[in-house]
Amino acid sequence: MKLISSEHVFENSLIRVSVDHALDPSGFEIKRAIVHHPGSAVVLPVDAKKRILLVHQYRLPAQKMLWELPAGKIDPGETALQAAKRELKEETGCKAKKWSKLADFYPSPGFLGEKMTIYLATELVEGEATPMDDERIEKKWFTAKEVEEMLRTGKILDAKTNIGFLRWKYLK
Ligand SMILES: [Mg+2]
Repeated sequence: MKLISSEHVFENSLIRVSVDHALDPSGFEIKRAIVHHPGSAVVLPVDAKKRILLVHQYRLPAQKMLWELPAGKIDPGETALQAAKRELKEETGCKAKKWSKLADFYPSPGFLGEKMTIYLATELVEGEATPMDDERIEKKWFTAKEVEEMLRTGKILDAKTNIGFLRWKYLK
């Protein structure tokens, strides 16, 4: 890839937006508005009874409450795994003794640079959640069967939750 120009449009603590003009590796010219993002870590917490812990919160872009896997932005200097451990603790109060990577994916690569990394977290110990000031999060355990039914009936609409659950259940 060869960057010809990059026009800065907007920046906050989470994202940066630019309009980039570039040549792809084959020399094809591309111009796109791009949302740059440091990447996110996602956690699929599964307990000894094979139940899955989901969080429920209002999502302004979707304009609805969504059931999701715990997740969050990777902070500067953090690895994806360190961010996963921190987010699980902050959002649910849980700690896990066993961690393994399930998948990496780009949720919307047409305009968004964010890469998500999903980890399976098992051998869980529950504790007190410590959400950020701008987060209001409810948590609940579901059986795998319940999660499948929620996916089938559109009660789970979040992409990382679809991918994390299906990769764990059917494509580990
Ligand atoms: Mg979060």
